This record gives sequence, structure tokens and C-alpha cells, in this order.
Amino acid sequence: MPTPPGGRVDSDVVERGLRRRYNRAQKSTRPPKLRASMDRRKFLATSGIFGAGLFGASNAASSLLHAEPRPDFESNLNLEDKPVAFSVPPLPYPNDALEPYIDARTMEIHHDKHHGAYVTNLNKALEGHPDLQAKSIDDILKNLDSVPENIRGAVRNNGGGHWNHSLFWQLMKKGGGGEPKGDLAAAINASFGSFAGFKEKFKAAGLGRFGSGWAWLLVKDGKLTIDSTANQDTQYIAGGKAVIGIDVWEHAYYLKYQNVRGDYIDAWWNVVNWDKAAELYSAAKK
Ligand code: MN
Repeated sequence: MPTPPGGRVDSDVVERGLRRRYNRAQKSTRPPKLRASMDRRKFLATSGIFGAGLFGASNAASSLLHAEPRPDFESNLNLEDKPVAFSVPPLPYPNDALEPYIDARTMEIHHDKHHGAYVTNLNKALEGHPDLQAKSIDDILKNLDSVPENIRGAVRNNGGGHWNHSLFWQLMKKGGGGEPKGDLAAAINASFGSFAGFKEKFKAAGLGRFGSGWAWLLVKDGKLTIDSTANQDTQYIAGGKAVIGIDVWEHAYYLKYQNVRGDYIDAWWNVVNWDKAAELYSAAKK
């Protein structure tokens, strides 16, 4: 502030200047769109709206499928900091929890880099589509036809990748494996003869998926069925509700098992979270 003639600073002028600068700063750092987006994210974060969906309200990780404001969001806000619609949920266990069946390095790369890239690319595809950004990933994938054609492929692949992996992390746990219990065990025996028979058919579905994709145990028309999907296609393309699913992309197993997908599938039975599977089965039957 230049000193006015006479050497006296006019405090009104200073104050008016500061107020103008303050108002300008408020406007430039907080465009209305960003404000709306933050409010929406706060709403989603506090309402647990996504958690009430497929992944179950009880799971803490599920509410993180939508981005929450970072703790430093208010104080470190800058113009480069764009709000995003979706974020990667944290792994519900440490990277090495599934050793020796799935190695820590694979889990780290798979979760941070691969799942991370699906989310980054999904958010990129949804830029400029606030209507889609406001939806849950389930709602988007259930209605792919309503996604504009020029981003539909990107949303199918990257949104599917986000959905599939968010479920996959929950379908494994430290000290998992063993056999399913209760209703799910009975249904598996009724549908496939035995648990061993089921595992054999499920493995065949994983081995038979040419290239990259997923093998699934689904509830379809009220019955258990084994299926597989290509790339990152989800249960919504398969037309069922997932009970378990295994990622058979090479990135899921190559470091430890190289090209031997069958050995990876055999090892995977040791980490399956049958409690989560039972929860999904019972929800799917309702
Ligand atoms: Mn994967």
C-alpha cells in the first residue's frame, strides 16, 4: 500500500483494499462448482450412501469408494486441486497379510497401481459429467447405456475395474480359506455336488477365460452358477450377483506364479473370505 501524500496511511483505504483482495481470493479459490462438489462428497461421506449398497453398510472400507475430503482439504486448497468423484478404498489388511499365497509386492502394485489407475481413468472419463459423478459406481454400471457413447468404453473398463477390485479385496483375508458354512455350503453342495466339485469347475472357468478377466460364483435367477467375464466386465454384464470372484489378469499373479494361472487359483483358496461370501450370498437371495 503506497503511503499517501502527507505520510499518513488512510486506514479506510487499506481496509477496502484488503476486503477486495479477500473477496477476490474467495471467489478464485472456491468456484461454485467445487463448492457443490465438496458438499456432495461430505454428504456421501457422512450418509454412507454407497455403503448401503452392494458392499454392505457394515464394511468401513465401502464408504471410501467415494472420495472423502482429505483432512487438509480446506487449508491446502489450491487451484490445481480438483475434486474427484471416486477414490481407491484402502486395503482392509496389510500388503503382506495374504503371504505366502499372494505376495506383498503383488498386493501393493495391484492395489496402488492397477486399482489406482482404474480410478484415475474413471475420474478422467467423468470430467464434465456432474450427473454421473454424483451417482454410485453401481448405478453407473447398471445403466451403461445411459452413459454417453464417447466415454462408455472408458467407464465400462475403468468403472468395472474399480467395482471388481473393490469387491476383490474384501473377498480375501488373512487366515481365510477353509470351507464355506451354512446356507452357502448347502447351496454349493446342491448345485455342484460337493465343495471339491465346485472348486474344480470354478478353476476351469478361471483357466478357460482367454486373456484377462474374472471367474465368478454368481446368484443368477435365484440359483448358484459359475461364470466368467472378460476384461473388467462386472456382475452387471454377467447378469447375476457375485458371491465370490477371482481376478485372473496376469497382474494378479505374475510376480509369484508367472504364467501358471492354475497354481495361483489353487493357492487362492487359502485366502478366500467365506464370511464375506456368505454375506453376499444371503443378500443376493433376498
Ligand atoms: Mn486386477
